[in-house]
Amino acid sequence: MEVKIQSGREEQTSSSKMNGLLESRGTFLSLCQYTPPSWAAQLGPIPSHYYALGHLPTPIHRWNLPDLPTNTEVWIKREDLSGMQLSGNKVRKLEFLMADAKAKGADCIITIGGIQSNHCRATAVAARYLNLDCYLILRTTRAEVDENPGLIGNLLVERMVGANIELISMEEHAQIGSVTPCTLLKERLEKDGRKPYVIPVGGSNSLGTCGGTTAGLSLGSHLSSLKAKVHAFSVCDDPDNFYDYTQGLLNGLHAGLNSHDLISIVNAEGIGYAMSKVEELKCVCQIAEATGVVLDPVYSGKAAFQMLRDMVENPSKWEGRKVLFIHSGGLLGMYDKMQQLQPLIGKWQRFKVDDSVLQVDGVGKMF
Ligand SMILES: *Cc1c(COP(=O)(O)O)cnc(C)c1O
Repeated sequence: MEVKIQSGREEQTSSSKMNGLLESRGTFLSLCQYTPPSWAAQLGPIPSHYYALGHLPTPIHRWNLPDLPTNTEVWIKREDLSGMQLSGNKVRKLEFLMADAKAKGADCIITIGGIQSNHCRATAVAARYLNLDCYLILRTTRAEVDENPGLIGNLLVERMVGANIELISMEEHAQIGSVTPCTLLKERLEKDGRKPYVIPVGGSNSLGTCGGTTAGLSLGSHLSSLKAKVHAFSVCDDPDNFYDYTQGLLNGLHAGLNSHDLISIVNAEGIGYAMSKVEELKCVCQIAEATGVVLDPVYSGKAAFQMLRDMVENPSKWEGRKVLFIHSGGLLGMYDKMQQLQPLIGKWQRFKVDDSVLQVDGVGKMF
């Protein structure tokens, strides 16, 4: 799910507050005490500690997308710059989840996701940084479930940092869900004397949300002085299911709020989760060429596609608005789309070296 915050208000977080936030973070990879912002103090459970895994706060800059409606200002928050191996929104959840895993005495982490899961990649890296082993259950097609999964995109990083990969087919996954495979693997590892800590799919439980995405953004915006409306784009399920899911997470935090009051969710799934239409990829290519910002094909690319389409179809809705678009990361997922991208990207040719230049002295030159 991708999120942008839309607000007609000019209000911004004061720089002194931002500095305070920056200074309170400990050095990279250290265990830190967590103090929630004052407006979040009544939520619970509040985690007591986190590991400083992300390079935060991430930058915000003006995003000059082509063909914006009159007076529409778009800014972009670069959560993709929260790190390199650990880039994207998942690092915020992992900061808390890893502290919990360590506090509970775990010696390894189990989690589950799609074959190009950013969450699984980030978890594998965070686990290795903190000297925990990592077991990833990855969902793939029936045709590929018995094959070596290869090294494309997120898999490259996961496997290089030593994660153990276990493949499950989409059919099996559709039958037994995400919880059962994790439980089965947990029991198997416990029999071997290990102490596994299970992180649910996508890292979203009530604890993960404390660092998290849609629910966290909307709750934060609502409780803080920002009060901007959060518009979310669902990329893997019906908006209705996401309202329910967010409600569950809010309930877990005893927030006493209704998800429908906090967010507006629009379907941007297209032809299916992690599957791209040519128009979507074209849009991502155009944005990259016009602005230098490379989105990802699974989340922010679909959200930007849907947002720009709406801006063209309903310009009056956007005129005069100030929008903050959250780039949630996931660049490595682009490698999975190489074949689809190839025909969309040109600008290459053979470098022409004239014979007369080549034959000047016939000796190889290093410089
Ligand atoms: C996982 C992910 C999201 C969605 O995050 P949730 O907290 O699960 O809603 C969005 N963008 C990227 C790049 C992701 O990897």
